[in-house]
Parts: sequence; structure tokens; C-alpha cells
Amino acid sequence: MGRLMQGAAIGVDIGGTNLRAAVVDEAGCIVHHLRTASPIVDPSSGRQALVQAVREVAMQAQRRLADLCGVGIGIPGWMDRVRGELVFAPKMAHWQDVFDLEDISREVGLPVYVDSDPNVATLGELWMGAGRGSRNLVMITLGTGLGCGIVIDGNLYVGAHGMSGEFGHIIVDSLGEDEPCDCGIVGCLERQAAGPAIARQGRKAVEQGDATLIRDFADGAAQNVTSAMVFAAAAREDRVAQAIVQRAGTLLGYGLATIVSLFEPEKIVVGGGMADVGELIFAPMRQAMKTRCYLIARSYVTVPLVHAELGDTAGVIGAARMALFPQAH
Ligand SMILES: [Zn+2]
Repeated sequence: MGRLMQGAAIGVDIGGTNLRAAVVDEAGCIVHHLRTASPIVDPSSGRQALVQAVREVAMQAQRRLADLCGVGIGIPGWMDRVRGELVFAPKMAHWQDVFDLEDISREVGLPVYVDSDPNVATLGELWMGAGRGSRNLVMITLGTGLGCGIVIDGNLYVGAHGMSGEFGHIIVDSLGEDEPCDCGIVGCLERQAAGPAIARQGRKAVEQGDATLIRDFADGAAQNVTSAMVFAAAAREDRVAQAIVQRAGTLLGYGLATIVSLFEPEKIVVGGGMADVGELIFAPMRQAMKTRCYLIARSYVTVPLVHAELGDTAGVIGAARMALFPQAH
């Protein structure tokens, strides 16, 4: 019974702006995909939206919930695997009370698995994307925050409590930034090289009257500056913007050099919105890795930086994988 239909599970990816849910079969194919706005008003609506999205996507895929293996959820925060509690989700404080896994599981009648969004994206890329066939790899996600997933011997490495892979919060304070990061610590990579840092530095350039295209893109108003404008200006060879991007890429590369020194992965998969600017950010990252990692500098190893392949579906695919193959996770 039940084996007439191919096994499938639901993957959910909760982000700051979107909540995605998909029915994914055991071959890793998306049967049906649903995207709604993340309800960011209050905790109870977050919980309702989650359960609603699970029911909705199953219905639209014409699957009964009872025929599915389970629900995997990727969240922008830390889940303490030992206590089963959401510990810290700085960008979604209002979701803090949503994750009573037993309650959610009872409500949908299926086993529920949760991990951080970089970890589920890494599982997705490992299974169906740029990491296919790899045994040892690291994936980083570059965007509003900097995420990281670590795969060792084919399995996701999650640490003692499930909190490993905090690439954004390794310390690279050598270039003089002194404002604390969202996490409260001074000198974090994320504070200096993620999207908001690039936007902040672009704003500063406009405020201090530097000659830059960023000002034109922002209609002359510093508060309008986004990281996308800085990248667009850098792509048009604007010196001010290029220096900002170069600095961020260099710091990211220092972080990656540390990762290579510790893990010596086969490759590093780079995803997230900022990865889409391509060589603009990849070139300084690669250069900095080469100068700050002796394994690479001396050609003992080559560690390619490869672009993630699944885009914004990596999360739902990886989340579903947790439910389809819980023993492999
Ligand atoms: Zn930090």
C-alpha cells in the first residue's frame, strides 16, 4: 500500500519575504511549487501560514497529506536539535514561537524536520544541483546574510547542537570596521561583506560626495542606495563601486581561505542573490583565497568556486530531502 505512488514529501522554505512550499518526489523533482508572501506580522499568523502552505501545496499537487513521507522546513535561524527549539532568528524575531515541532507534526499528521536555510539549500545542491556526486563540499550563500553548509563524507555536518556553518560570523576585523554585527559581536564577516554592508558603503560614498554612478542610480539620495546599485555601478567600471565590491569579495575570500584550510573541500558552491553578479564578486574571492590559503597558493589543491544551480528552489528540494531520507541527514 502507498507504494503504487512514488514517494514524495513537502519541502518548505521560509524567507524574509517569501514562503515557498513544494511537493518533491524521491527522484528530487518538484511535482508542484507554491509561493506566498511571508506573514511578518505576528507569531500566530506565521504558524498558520506554514500549516496552510503545507495543506495547500499538497492539494494543488493532488496528493493526500497521508500519502506523503513528511515535511521538511528550512528556516532563517538556528534550531537547537537537542532541545528542538528555535534559538535565534535575528531577521524573523516574530517567528520565535512558531516552531513547536510536535504541534506542527500533530496538526499536519506527518513527521516534521527543520534545519537552517543554508543547510537545506546545501542538501538541495548536493542532491540535485552543483554538488551532485561530491562527498566533501562547502556551500556558502551570499545575500542579506552569509550562510554556509558543510558536507563531510556525503553527509551534512551540523555540529553538536545543529549550529555549525556560521560563515557570516567568523571574525575578519583586520580592515578596521568597528560597528557591531546583528549578532552583537564586532568584526564579523557578515557585517563587512554581506549585501547590507555593500549598500551601507555605497550610501557612505554618496553622502561624502564621491564621484560615482551610484549617486545617479539612487537619484541623488543616499538613503535610496541598494547593494544592487553598487554592483550595477561596478559592472560599468565605476571606480568607487569597484573598490567597495573588491573589498567585500576580498574579505569573503579570506573567509573561504579559512574554510579551505580547515576542510579542504572538493569544491565550494556559491549561491544566494549576490552570487548572481558572477565574476564581479567571484574574481576577488578567488584571488583572496589564493593569497590567503597556502594549500591553494602552493597548488597542493585546487578548490573551484562554482555557481549554485538550483536558484531559489534549492531550499524546498533540500528541505524535502530531509523528510524523504531522514537517515541520510
Ligand atoms: Zn556576527
